[in-house]
Amino acid sequence: MINIIRKEKRVRYSKQRSLIMDVLKNTTSHPTAQWVYEQAKQDMPTIGIATVYRNLNALAENGDIQRIISTGNVEHYDADTSDHWHMACMQCGKIIDLKADEEQLAALHGMIVDTFGIQDENVRIGKTLLQGTCNACLRRKREGSGNGTMH
Ligand SMILES: [Zn+2]
Ligand SMILES: [Zn+2]
Repeated sequence: MINIIRKEKRVRYSKQRSLIMDVLKNTTSHPTAQWVYEQAKQDMPTIGIATVYRNLNALAENGDIQRIISTGNVEHYDADTSDHWHMACMQCGKIIDLKADEEQLAALHGMIVDTFGIQDENVRIGKTLLQGTCNACLRRKREGSGNGTMH
């Protein structure tokens, strides 16, 4: 018997899923599910937050988007699945892309594996989150405290 009925719809995105994908593709801010929900609602007022969560999870599991867990266990999403690192700004909470060419990333990756003895497959470039202060906050800090510190 040949089973000719194919109910699998994995390849085709639902309307909701493509909308969520569009929202993510149009930003580089690594938003949270809540933010994605608020944007999606403007185009599709009937969409629910549970649907947004469900689709974000499915997309992340398919590897169509990246999930970054930030400090405080907050989940952020990124439609850019190219290899890059992330830095969370400790001042404003923003997540910033740290991009480099393939060779540099591979060298950095190798260095981490060698230095810390971490098994290669456990180091996920996209999931790596550094902490620091973003350029905008640094600038603000420098301008704000101009008369404070003299060297
Ligand atoms: Zn910042
Ligand atoms: Zn990113």
